Amino acid sequence: MTSHEIDAARLTLALNELRLPAIKVLWPRFAEQADKEGWRAARLLSALVEHELAERDRRRIERHLAQARLLPGKTLETFDFAAVPMVSKAHVNAITAGDSWIGKGDNILLFGPPGVGKSHLSSAIGLALVENGYRVLFTRTTDLVQKLQQARRDLALESAIAKLDKFHLLILDDIAYVTKDQSETSVLFELISARYERRSMLITANQPFGAWDTIFPDPAMTLAAVDRLVHHATIFEMNVESYRRKAAERRKGPGRPPQTASPVDMTAD
Ligand code: ADP
Ligand code: MG
Repeated sequence: MTSHEIDAARLTLALNELRLPAIKVLWPRFAEQADKEGWRAARLLSALVEHELAERDRRRIERHLAQARLLPGKTLETFDFAAVPMVSKAHVNAITAGDSWIGKGDNILLFGPPGVGKSHLSSAIGLALVENGYRVLFTRTTDLVQKLQQARRDLALESAIAKLDKFHLLILDDIAYVTKDQSETSVLFELISARYERRSMLITANQPFGAWDTIFPDPAMTLAAVDRLVHHATIFEMNVESYRRKAAERRKGPGRPPQTASPVDMTAD
């Protein structure tokens, strides 16, 4: 073994130990180029370190994406803004930059009937925020309520809510689907109170506030919850026709017979 080979073997071991995988992979090629082109030592070092940092960022975002449990395939690129004129693309782009509202714990509320793209849009906003370095959790509200109720039974509600603090944005999809038995222990109210003015929430609902009485144990608590949610909130009312239904109608095409057409239709000319 030449001394050069010994150096290389040692370096590889040390980079493993230091957990610098990008530098471990890249250094031989970079070192060769540096030797050939006569780079100054500082240039070689900074090139290697830059790559390690970029790789670290990439891995972190990958980890945050896995934790976010977003809906697969729902992106802003695939969202047709023309279908919801009350939601402007520019406004949503400003939202996904994050800084003006997420730091203050402001909220976003999306209202609208089923099929208008509330889940799609909220997951897509979540995705863009993760890509911009924020931490997000997307969950059906009833699933989270169930988990928090279990935590309360285990006398661990406070720490369960505190654990959610690591997420800059909590997306609660379909809050109005919370059932009466889930509302009795009001874990959702505890969550909303705990995050108030500190950590953001994005909530979707197919019912306006007036119909939120089933979500919380009593009207006073409903009022208090709504009050906290709207205090610093952007509200989008997506009152349009169901995108799902419109898309289905487009597939069928105009003027064609309904899908229940019998085989007889095929022979009729
Ligand atoms: P909601 O949550 O309001 O019930 P979804 O987000 O589940 O609606 O949307 C229903 C389906 O229609 C999904 O497949 C979604 O991707 C699609 N969709 C809804 N609105 C749009 C839109 N504006 N652009 C593209 N796809 C949309
Ligand atoms: Mg939905």
